[in-house]
Amino acid sequence: MALRLYNTLRREIEEFKPASGGNAVNLYTCGPTVYDSAHIGNLRSYIFADVLRRVIEFNGYKVNWVMNITDVDDKTIKRTVDEFGKEATPEELRKYTDRYFDEFKKDLVSVNIPTDQERITFVRVSDKINEIKKFIKELIKLGFAYKTDDGVYFSIEKYQKDFGDYGELVGENFLAGKKTGARVRVDEYEKENLSDFALWKARDESDGNVFWDDKELGEGRPGWHIECSAINKISFGGAPTDIHTGGVDLIFPHHTNEIAQSQPIYEPFVLHWSHCEHLLVDDRKMAKSEGNFYTLRDLEKEIPDAGVSFRYLALQTHHRAKMNFTIAALKAAESGLEHLSDARFNLNNPGKAGNAEERFAEALNHDLNTAEALAVLGELTGLENSGKLADKMAQVLGITFFDTEIPSEIKALQNEYEEYRRNKQFVKSDGLREKIKKLGYIVRDTETGSILRKSRK
Ligand code: AMP
Ligand code: ZN
Repeated sequence: MALRLYNTLRREIEEFKPASGGNAVNLYTCGPTVYDSAHIGNLRSYIFADVLRRVIEFNGYKVNWVMNITDVDDKTIKRTVDEFGKEATPEELRKYTDRYFDEFKKDLVSVNIPTDQERITFVRVSDKINEIKKFIKELIKLGFAYKTDDGVYFSIEKYQKDFGDYGELVGENFLAGKKTGARVRVDEYEKENLSDFALWKARDESDGNVFWDDKELGEGRPGWHIECSAINKISFGGAPTDIHTGGVDLIFPHHTNEIAQSQPIYEPFVLHWSHCEHLLVDDRKMAKSEGNFYTLRDLEKEIPDAGVSFRYLALQTHHRAKMNFTIAALKAAESGLEHLSDARFNLNNPGKAGNAEERFAEALNHDLNTAEALAVLGELTGLENSGKLADKMAQVLGITFFDTEIPSEIKALQNEYEEYRRNKQFVKSDGLREKIKKLGYIVRDTETGSILRKSRK
């Protein structure tokens, strides 16, 4: 049974086939802007991309996964100038963004997204300025971009004249009734403010000394959208990107503009667009600008190994559905994962796996139904002789079981701990919890007594 995925461009679920016709797949994910810590909404979209990567591999393909790192943009430059002053150069920008890039990689590892080069290639924008300039110059040469006093802009009118499909990723007839020709310098804008967008932003006083020089383009730096067009092209050698992912907020303007910039140079640019819906808090999108966000550090204050539990929680909702986040849901996910882990290491229920493996594959191959796949995994754990299959499924989903196999001397400490709690000797129970922690185990209180597991760290 083949892998079927929803394609945002065609608005339907279709069979996935890579352009190569062989077993190599080019997967591209828009990465973070590293001006600050990532929030768990961002992480939801990367967990989705990672499950997608694993499911493609599960189907026998070899995935070349590339993610850009936006370390040159309005926000990163502003923060760099705030910290290092007006003298700040690209070197300081690099120093500033290193910090959040490193943190981001650690966050990925915490939610079981491997960051080794075998699995993923990160491409920093500051390392590809020359390639980006080249791409812009080519667009100028072909007549799709024009120079102004404050930079180089992309002409939507010209694109529309030649291709006639600007904005199709958003919906049919996107341009109907809209005026073209105005210009927008900022990277993020609403559909109502449709305008020619900046490919190269001329140096501005607020940029300090963060700029790159160029004979043709002048002093300045790339706009946001152009980096992804250039990085797709150089990463896959001009071959189509098989799958391009991002959060739904990137459909417009970012991905819409990526398509417009790339198609004049090569077609098709992307075969398959996959988007992840938003993580919400109280029914509003989790966002830095809304101030309603949690980072992994915030979650780690609530529970240990929060990344693993957050991943387990995220997979319970289909990636195309909005998902409301609460700390209570996170804690419930942790208990669920505890339960699953206990069952995995105590395979003593009679019964047979039956067609579980088939149903698991069917669920994932039908537009990545991770919730159903988790349910199949849940049925399986605890069944004698099903350990290997459960491990295989967990690997495809990127779920790690908590290690609940505990040596008897640690179990004895847990009994002692519970005894102190029952007698309300909290100073003693707290002390014992610390001692257990030092021995590499975690004891946690739940409504039905304490639970014990090996610490991941
Ligand atoms: P940014 O660093 O803002 O470019 O965002 C990085 C990624 O996170 C992009 O793919 C966004 O679409 C995605 N994203 C941002 N906010 C959310 C959210 N609340 N839920 C899910 N994905 C999000
Ligand atoms: Zn992008």
